[in-house]
Amino acid sequence: MGTIASLQLPGEIPFSPLRQEAERIYKEVTDNFSAWDSSSALSHINQEAGHSSITVPQTFSPLLSRTLIVAKQSGGAFNPLVGPLIDCWGFHGRKDGEIKIPTDEQLEKIKPLIQFDQIQIKGQQIGLARKGMQLDLGGVAKGYAVDRVWVALTQRNVESALIDLGGNLRCIGESKKGRGGWNTAIRNPFRRRDLVASFLLHPGEAVATSGNYERFVEINHKRYAHIIDPRTGHPVEGTASVTVIAPTAEKADILSTTLFVLGQKDGMRFLEKYAKDCDAIWIPDTPQTPTLFCTKGINKRDFNSSWKTVILASST
Ligand code: ADP
Ligand code: MG
Repeated sequence: MGTIASLQLPGEIPFSPLRQEAERIYKEVTDNFSAWDSSSALSHINQEAGHSSITVPQTFSPLLSRTLIVAKQSGGAFNPLVGPLIDCWGFHGRKDGEIKIPTDEQLEKIKPLIQFDQIQIKGQQIGLARKGMQLDLGGVAKGYAVDRVWVALTQRNVESALIDLGGNLRCIGESKKGRGGWNTAIRNPFRRRDLVASFLLHPGEAVATSGNYERFVEINHKRYAHIIDPRTGHPVEGTASVTVIAPTAEKADILSTTLFVLGQKDGMRFLEKYAKDCDAIWIPDTPQTPTLFCTKGINKRDFNSSWKTVILASST
């Protein structure tokens, strides 16, 4: 998945078998959902786009169906067919080395390829209606993988753990008895090595951050985030990072990407309608006036920051 995985287990339990189990799960998720590995199930679906359906492993269709619900609810801000746009902007790396801003004409041609109602799911058979369509679950697969590891550890009676896959975190229990959970932090998107805020993850909860500082492309000295607004075809600008705290890592992951695209105002509306059980923190791309915009639930989490913090009022 092109990132680093870590597992913290403070209890006195044998580490190796749990590590092996986590590695097995991450490999399985990569084999199924990687857009980079041409032999993954997802890549096979893409290779057969406009041609035929592919039989996928059992876990595939349920995850894809759940992402389609968020795609609909968000009015297409999250779009699992974002692949051709990611390609077009060169986020998967350009072979010719030079990255150019796509023309309106190029983007117009891609529009029919990102119509997510044209994904066909029949049980374990998945097909894409048009040639050139490309599934990309990069905005949700890491969170999903973390939940799978979380379930495996819970089933093995692990009482305390922190699972981290490239900034997608989920905890089990408390880091120490009496702590009330695990203390976590948000990175400074303008100076990656620094932290800007800390807060408590309650037992079982998850957190994910989508930012413009980890993966991006530079075109004419301007930095573009690897998150695209499928409604415009352009990379999202104006936001440096969005952090989401949710009951599961899958939800935190998919919503961090979704809320990055929706921005604060529409993002708040989305949360109130579809995800009342989540908290979010937006950091606008304004390094001169660093500010955190948070949902009010953050107050129940020992939230601490030296930055200006604005609690967002409800949208209604
Ligand atoms: P990261 O992969 O750095 O953790 P995200 O979870 O926000 O960050 O996912 C970003 C990835 O999601 C991109 O690399 C791309 O594969 C995919 N993506 C980008 N824009 C969208 C979008 N609007 N809808 C769905 N997926 C997207
Ligand atoms: Mg995400």
